[in-house]
Amino acid sequence: MQTLTAECVLDAKAVLGEGPVWRAETRDLVWVDIESAKVNCFDPSSGENRTWDVEEKVGLAVPAQSGDLILGMTVGLTRLNLESGKVTPIIDPEKDLLNNRFNDGKVDPEGRLWAGTMGLDEAPNVGSLYRLNRNQSADKLFGQVSISNGMAWSADQKTFYYIDSPTRQVAAFDCDMEAGTVSNRRVAFELPEGMGYPDGMCIDDEGMLWVALWQGWGVARFDPSGELLGKIDVPVERVTSCCFGGDNWDELYITTASRDLDESGKMAQPQAGGVFHCKPGVGGPPTNLYLG
Ligand code: CA
Repeated sequence: MQTLTAECVLDAKAVLGEGPVWRAETRDLVWVDIESAKVNCFDPSSGENRTWDVEEKVGLAVPAQSGDLILGMTVGLTRLNLESGKVTPIIDPEKDLLNNRFNDGKVDPEGRLWAGTMGLDEAPNVGSLYRLNRNQSADKLFGQVSISNGMAWSADQKTFYYIDSPTRQVAAFDCDMEAGTVSNRRVAFELPEGMGYPDGMCIDDEGMLWVALWQGWGVARFDPSGELLGKIDVPVERVTSCCFGGDNWDELYITTASRDLDESGKMAQPQAGGVFHCKPGVGGPPTNLYLG
């Protein structure tokens, strides 16, 4: 098994750093601090990290072709104009569920955003997965989700991988990409004992899955059959998500959390809440832009 170590490139001290996504045009990394209600753009070449305070918990921020970021919040899906800092609503498919918020999301190869929800109190099975279409309507794909997290599509677009964290499993579905629907849910694999909980996820050019390990001190690379192929060690217990980026899409950016750490935990993990970086020796597909 290959073992690598990630380096901290931004000592951000985020409470719940999440949702990294690389923007090729501006060569920067968008990421959020969910608990601090902050959207960030980090430029690794200059080290500059710009921050937008969006005033409520923000689970995801993904780039749209227009240059805006699409956000997933407690009030639903919104659009952030980076010039003005203004947030405008798109749609809230859960406007009757005041105790839910959006969590992880990813744009599919057709330019639609798939985004899931969870209970603010982490109540089981109250969340769902939605698809925000290019015309800004939303469809529910399925419910009975506890903490909707990582997503990835196989290169042939026929398989959708999905993480509902408390299950400790990566699920697989058959995917009809043209229709934007999934069916035939099954367990692809369960995390080995001692690796914590699966959180964010991305897929590489060899079809292998990179899974961020909440309470697992790193990111693990799995064959979709469940074989553990490698691990990137991160000196933080709560690792939240990862994405490919950089000029050649062969660099992995990793977000982490400092949430739930007491004073001795913060001493032991001084870089908790930072953004980490690693060159894993394999690349991944470019970021899809939301086309609505
Ligand atoms: Ca997450």
